[in-house]
Amino acid sequence: MSTETKRGFTTQILHGDRQSTIEHGSNCKPIHTAIAYGYKDAREIAEVFQGTKPGYSYGRQNNPTTTALENKITTMEQGTGSIAFSTGMAAISAVMMTLLRQGDHLIASRFIFGNTNSFLNTLMNFGIEVSFVDATDSTQIAAAVQPNTKMVFVETIANPCTQIADLKNIGQLCQEKQLVFVVDNTMTSPYLFKPIKVGASLSINSLSKCIAGHGDVLGGAVTELGQFDWSRYDNIIDTYKKGDSRNWALTQIKKKGLRDTGATLDSMAAHHIAIGAETLSLRMSKISDNALKLAQFLSQQDKIVKVFYPGLPEHPEHERAAELFMAYGGLISINLDPAIDCFEFLNQLQVPIISSHLGDNRTLIIPVAHTIFYEMGPERRASMGIDDNTIRISVGIEDIEDLINDFDRTLNG
Ligand SMILES: *Cc1c(COP(=O)(O)O)cnc(C)c1O
Repeated sequence: MSTETKRGFTTQILHGDRQSTIEHGSNCKPIHTAIAYGYKDAREIAEVFQGTKPGYSYGRQNNPTTTALENKITTMEQGTGSIAFSTGMAAISAVMMTLLRQGDHLIASRFIFGNTNSFLNTLMNFGIEVSFVDATDSTQIAAAVQPNTKMVFVETIANPCTQIADLKNIGQLCQEKQLVFVVDNTMTSPYLFKPIKVGASLSINSLSKCIAGHGDVLGGAVTELGQFDWSRYDNIIDTYKKGDSRNWALTQIKKKGLRDTGATLDSMAAHHIAIGAETLSLRMSKISDNALKLAQFLSQQDKIVKVFYPGLPEHPEHERAAELFMAYGGLISINLDPAIDCFEFLNQLQVPIISSHLGDNRTLIIPVAHTIFYEMGPERRASMGIDDNTIRISVGIEDIEDLINDFDRTLNG
């Protein structure tokens, strides 16, 4: 293992499957479709159910193909274990529902994915208090801490206006106050950023985005980073306080959050994601390179009043992004001149696809106020920096000349 950890990110992902026993020596983990597993010795099935022996019980909880993917995510995040889910939202909701209880307080970034925001509102209906604060400033998180605060939740690069949470200082604050620090690492992916480096407790990834990359599969994962002392956390039930206390939360999330809700990742989907994951570093490098060039071009255009991209020196958290991330990712947002009809603008572009979704190989573009942030309402949108002419671009791996020429023709043609 010590020689393995010295190997690079991509080498480890490509060769990870072969480190476990693999049928016929195949170079990647086969797709297992059985949902039930037979045992020759009745004692053994009891041991598997009681968790004293590794093994498979029923497909809702695990599957060898999914385990292989979980191991890849754990490697990427430098964590101690991961659980895969059917979607990123399933992973987020499982973490919140299993680690928080009625009367607890959660501090969440004000700049978060729309559906996560919606889910946190549902949590409030169940008696969990939620404060939404500006997470670009850790002092605002500190000011929101109450005696019943249990958890802090932030994203790395916020969608759509690319605010970057004060990850390092929030991590330090959470360690001081013994708060669970959950980072949604979807926008950066574990290739660009490792939440373990800022003291995060759990990292969540939507596997549907950059990790799969092909836009043809949904998935999510939670990774335990081994830095939180769960033996001091009130909400772990006695049944799961077994063995190394670093794994207690993950066991609880798996049993209560995956087994009991059934948000299981299908083995076929796990396979597709694992194939995508093999090229994560190549895609993220190309996407980040394209995005920086496109952002630089867009920032020089008269018809664009604002460009949000952490790679631009004028971005308020540019220095923070440069320090924390390997590159600046593929998310760019622009505010068009109010005189321009954003729908007409989008209709004239030929290369980007008018579509939701992020981290795809193809460049995708969407008017956010009218679509993904519509349900949030104008007030909350304004507080997030979104106006009616805000357009989000998820930059893909196309030839950059084609992207720049297309925007140039549409803006100036
Ligand atoms: C897409 C996304 C999610 C949800 O992931 P799904 O796989 O679509 O459920 C969560 N967080 C962020 C930051 C996302 O971009």
